[in-house]
Amino acid sequence: MSEEKKVAPAARTERPARPEGRSEGGRPERPQRRAPGGRAGGKFKSRRKFCKFCADTSIKIDHKDPGLLGQFISERSKITPSRVTSTCAKHQRQLTTAIKRARVLALLSFTPLHHD
Ligand SMILES: [Zn+2]
Repeated sequence: MSEEKKVAPAARTERPARPEGRSEGGRPERPQRRAPGGRAGGKFKSRRKFCKFCADTSIKIDHKDPGLLGQFISERSKITPSRVTSTCAKHQRQLTTAIKRARVLALLSFTPLHHD
């Protein structure tokens, strides 16, 4: 009684299309992009970035206006980066120059006050 069960290893005749052989440029295809509309996590609503000065052209960047420039310096009297304030490159440049001028005119501070 020798009943041999030959379990054929799952249909060998048909090969699955696998990128084993480097046929196309030698790079296996990878899903690079995420599903459209789905951002990483999808937790946050996409808030449209806009430059304050581009949005309202009536605002003039003036080194004699410490009230406006003061919005763009941090607690430590540092100029806030444009990635935080979403100011465009053009206006960030003007802003930086204006803040530096205002500092020289003592309208803005170089450093926060030192308390003893
Ligand atoms: Zn701008």
